Amino acid sequence: MLLKNVKKFLKNKMNLKELYQEIILDHGKNPRNKGKCEKFNKDAKAHNPLCGDKVHIYLKLNDEKKVEDLSFEGEGCAISLASASILTETIKGKDFDSAKKITSEFLEMIKDKRNIKDDNLNEDQKTTIMSLSGVKEFPMRVKCATMAWHTFVSALEGKNTNE
Ligand code: ZN
Repeated sequence: MLLKNVKKFLKNKMNLKELYQEIILDHGKNPRNKGKCEKFNKDAKAHNPLCGDKVHIYLKLNDEKKVEDLSFEGEGCAISLASASILTETIKGKDFDSAKKITSEFLEMIKDKRNIKDDNLNEDQKTTIMSLSGVKEFPMRVKCATMAWHTFVSALEGKNTNE
């Protein structure tokens, strides 16, 4: 699975825009980590009334402050679902600090064309996250792409569920 997207990119001579579109379509159609993850201890939800998107993030932060499990429930447009799916796929398994760092890099990327260069991500994960960079050309869709990530931070920093 490692570097799958990069290999596909080189093999099929796709341009980056096509590759990004394909990644978003794939995640929108087949969202990863959908549903409540087992034994989650933090969660948060959000709603984007402009588009009708809803997201609920569940995560399990273990004793070593690692995001051991991460999942989402949601409904809405393809961008919002793809973004939540990409979030769970790339952040699951990361520790608290890198999860926060990757999230702020993502939000910066959406704002001003910055590339993702985080050392805690492999090339394939970077490409996957970068696929959402195109939304900045569509201001109406920015919220669709960022909502899951903001919600993830609220869950991560919030108090434990059921406490
Ligand atoms: Zn939306």
